Amino acid sequence: MDPIEVACNCGAVIVRLTALPVQQFYCHCDDCQRAAGSPYIGVALFPAGAVQVHGDTDAWTLRAMPRRRCRACGTQLLGEVPGGEIIGVRGERLPVDAFKPQFHIHCRHARLPVKDTLPHYAGLPPEFGGSDERVAW
Ligand SMILES: [Zn+2]
Ligand SMILES: [Zn+2]
Repeated sequence: MDPIEVACNCGAVIVRLTALPVQQFYCHCDDCQRAAGSPYIGVALFPAGAVQVHGDTDAWTLRAMPRRRCRACGTQLLGEVPGGEIIGVRGERLPVDAFKPQFHIHCRHARLPVKDTLPHYAGLPPEFGGSDERVAW
């Protein structure tokens, strides 16, 4: 595949992605809400070895997951899933035709329910070692 390049708003940071995403979803958890200042975020998970960050970033951690943003313009770009093997790139930064979310997670925390045809898992889905419990949206 051709690498996908994701840029921050000012262009100082480029994230180069050399594999297809492992999973893509919307996260409604309260950690993402606070970090992003948004009711939910899009996430595309990639193997850590397929994510190359060029440019200066700052890291910050609210609860457990270090997140990275451009040092110059503050655009939030990715989160490093604890364990070191997976990186979650902000889905909104991917090209429109590359971000294809498959489900919603942590919907019990949702502040802005999204009524679409995707599965709405209450917490973590079975794919991530969680349960099949859904919310009734
Ligand atoms: Zn920037
Ligand atoms: Zn989250």
